[in-house]
Amino acid sequence: MDFLISDELRMIQLTVREFVEKEVYPRETLIEDGDCIPDELIEAARKVGLFGISIPDEYGGLGLSMVGKCIVGEEMGRGSAGFSGYHGAHAGIGTSGIVMVGSHYLKAKYLPDMAEGKKIGAFALTEPDAGSDASNLKTTAVKKGDRWLLNGAKHFITNGPEANVITAMAVTDPSRGARGISAFLIENTFPGFRVGTVEKKMGLRGCHTSEIIFDDCEVPEENLLGKENEGFITALRILANGRAGLASRCVGACLRLIEHSLDYSGKRVQFGKPIIENQAIQWMLADMEMETQAARALTYQTAWKVDQGMNIIKDAAMTKLFASEVYNRVADKAVQIHGGMGYMKEMPIERVYRDARITRIYEGTSEIQRMVIAAQMMKKC
Ligand SMILES: Cc1cc2nc3c(=O)[nH]c(=O)nc-3n(C[C@H](O)[C@H](O)[C@H](O)COP(=O)(O)OP(=O)(O)OC[C@H]3O[C@@H](n4cnc5c(N)ncnc54)[C@H](O)[C@@H]3O)c2cc1C
Repeated sequence: MDFLISDELRMIQLTVREFVEKEVYPRETLIEDGDCIPDELIEAARKVGLFGISIPDEYGGLGLSMVGKCIVGEEMGRGSAGFSGYHGAHAGIGTSGIVMVGSHYLKAKYLPDMAEGKKIGAFALTEPDAGSDASNLKTTAVKKGDRWLLNGAKHFITNGPEANVITAMAVTDPSRGARGISAFLIENTFPGFRVGTVEKKMGLRGCHTSEIIFDDCEVPEENLLGKENEGFITALRILANGRAGLASRCVGACLRLIEHSLDYSGKRVQFGKPIIENQAIQWMLADMEMETQAARALTYQTAWKVDQGMNIIKDAAMTKLFASEVYNRVADKAVQIHGGMGYMKEMPIERVYRDARITRIYEGTSEIQRMVIAAQMMKKC
């Protein structure tokens, strides 16, 4: 494994870092208080090609490797979690299914607009009865002539209200369980599609999560994504790659928390000296740094394995689990180092603390990741 990144990726890293510092940091309060992503931020993201990081250059994207996407994810993770969640759901789980298994027709039809951010993507697997038990879907798709008719409801869908192109899973053969699920590409303008309740959440403000309802939703037959009845495997592949991307955003958030904590503890004076001179504070900082760098190493190792075409089921689960739990521990320590100020909205720490919590739940809970890791280990017994 090569630990040096190419000059091209270094350039992309610096570009995204500058974008986050110039365009995202100044708008974080606006995103938080307004619970929306300002149009000018979306426009600025378009200009640097952020919407097309996963899309091959022949369809107008940057066609980054997984290592490249994690470098972008790390930089994006330093900024607003609402904005990076919105971007990640589009550029990661909302796009990768089309890139992985889409026909040339679907790629040519959707990817160029998605690369430019003219069309926003989402991924819709979860349903009220199918959370951790993700194959227990109730949404059905029945073939009628040259269309599929979808009926059912998805919930907790990131970008649900904004998405124009949704990768959604539905049951096509109820007798086959997980092997009777297919993936579809659904436009939000298709007859019978509607957005349901938009949830009120603990954090991730600016990034909207909603129900999506299919009521005899008419989907052209060519919008079947991949092969019939292979949609659950596609969903698992999308999620495995998504987990490395999510881990990179956790690492970015940790790095920013460490920067804030170093800065604050160096300036805050109690008992006549900066609090950083106390070993208790230094030990918290040391643990934050050590765990973040460990999460970072695991993330890039997994990303590298993706790029080598290796099986990453166990690696992706370990990476997502570890990085999200490190993120929560680092956020907790950052609040502690900031004392009362860590609890106040004047600083970003309390927001990041709230935003950290979701990473142990979505894209598979910590418990489910442990189940995946153990199942992969037991296969070798
Ligand atoms: C903000 C947000 C955004 C989301 N975005 C998307 C999205 O874009 N697309 C999408 O498809 N989904 C999305 N989700 C759904 C998310 O992936 C699920 O919420 C998650 O997988 C957990 O499912 P659940 O909420 O139904 O919890 P449940 O499955 O009901 O789990 C509840 C608890 O039980 C535990 N548990 C369940 N089964 C077991 C078991 N066998 N052993 C041990 N413990 C178990 C879980 O770990 C958890 O602690 C999002 C969710 C949220 C909150």
